[in-house]
Amino acid sequence: MQRIDSIYINGEFVTPHGEERFELYNPATEAVIGTVRLADEVDAERAIAAAKAAFPAWSRTSKEERIAVLKRMHAAVAAREDDLFEAIVTEYGAPRSRSRWMAQYPADVIAQAIEALESFEFVEQAGSAQVIMTPVGVAGLITPWNSDAGFICNKLATAMAAGCTAVIKPSEMSAMQTQIVTEALHAAEIPAGVFNIVTGRGEVVGEVINHHPDIAKISFTGSTAVGKHIVESGARTLKRVTLELGGKSPTIILDDADPAQAVPLALAAGFMNSGQACVAGTRILVPRSRQTEFEQAFAGAVSQVQSGDPRDERTEIGPMVSRKQWQRVQDYIRLGVEEGAKLLAGGEGRPAGMAQGWGVKPTLFVGHNQMRIAREEIFGPVLVMIPYGDEAEALAIANDTTYGLSAMVLGGDTERAVRVTQQIESGRVLVNTMAHEPKAPFGGVKQSGLGREMGKWGMQAYLEAKTLLVG
Ligand code: NAD
Repeated sequence: MQRIDSIYINGEFVTPHGEERFELYNPATEAVIGTVRLADEVDAERAIAAAKAAFPAWSRTSKEERIAVLKRMHAAVAAREDDLFEAIVTEYGAPRSRSRWMAQYPADVIAQAIEALESFEFVEQAGSAQVIMTPVGVAGLITPWNSDAGFICNKLATAMAAGCTAVIKPSEMSAMQTQIVTEALHAAEIPAGVFNIVTGRGEVVGEVINHHPDIAKISFTGSTAVGKHIVESGARTLKRVTLELGGKSPTIILDDADPAQAVPLALAAGFMNSGQACVAGTRILVPRSRQTEFEQAFAGAVSQVQSGDPRDERTEIGPMVSRKQWQRVQDYIRLGVEEGAKLLAGGEGRPAGMAQGWGVKPTLFVGHNQMRIAREEIFGPVLVMIPYGDEAEALAIANDTTYGLSAMVLGGDTERAVRVTQQIESGRVLVNTMAHEPKAPFGGVKQSGLGREMGKWGMQAYLEAKTLLVG
């Protein structure tokens, strides 16, 4: 049993004013493995005050000074990779290979922020004026549980690179991972107050951040519902916002696709991060002319996907993070059947051989795009195959969604596939690949978000242009 009793304010681990204890679970066993004492409104206020006090000095640091601090941060986070790996498997339940990636990503993403800062031009000439990119102030960084350390490190490193100070409110469900990151950041000897971490409830700590006049900007990753609420609450103090929200991403399989290549890629996109991924390709569009062939290929492939114990090397899909999330996924699987979708693989209940834990059977339906299982984000390993007639219909279905985060096009003719991507409404499109490019901007259109993270685009979101004219 791990007891987490502190939060981090003004360069110190401190006991929260808040007294609520929140239980932490191992999703593979349902056992309580720890508790975290949560921050409350008073703690949030203190953290914001510390970040505000640290802002004048930090915002005036030179590029070189910031790079030196970020390099210490990188080394300190990289040094905790193995501890992070253990915490991710135990507290989040990601399979081993995914957990390893998730344990390395936080340091990698700090390195990306350093690179973006190195080449960033803070001063530009516009006619007779100098345009000086100026940090906006204290940033509120609100993160979810499905990639705790990665989101914290990405948002914080980018905010700091831009010259902002920060108050971080991570998910209460990933407190063990947050604890390791906090210890690493403390070891990096970042000036006091530049970052503050207050793990607490969204409706308590989050609400203080949403409304506080000393928070200039919020960068949020999480659900679309909370994202909209943050925009509304922040409007009173005109906060800048960057929102990375949900998705219902399409994978279009063109009629010249080879199933041997297309099926594994479509499933990798759909089942990514055990289905708990905002970018997951959960709608698989197949040509009606080849529907039977693809149904057979997908049903065979999904039945081979191992779901269950995250510590088993063969496992590709780990358990859902919580009982609530597990129940939500089960409810959607039942709903799919009730809506009349054809169940090709999976279904309700735990995977074979898993007597306990929040494991889910990898599930594939055949349905149409008006079904709720095709419209709503499920956030679990549940996919829906949707047949289409021609390319125009495939595009219409792909774009018939309130979301627009990511999309994939699979086909034999790459040029044609790239042409198809031009008409897809989404922040990212992948053609015949699952490759990731951390130097490129990341974010969504429509209700998948506002603004972009990563690279110079991510940094710009923490800056405002100041125009200087000298007589
Ligand atoms: P969530 O929106 O419930 O919570 C995200 C964070 O917001 C948590 O820290 C939570 O405590 C906090 N929060 C909750 N209510 C709040 C409020 N009123 N004010 C301020 N903060 C509040 O989402 P979740 O269940 O933690 O995560 C799953 C969701 O996140 C999914 O919908 C998924 O699509 C989305 N997500 C998006 C991305 C992306 O990059 N686009 C990445 C991961 C997850």
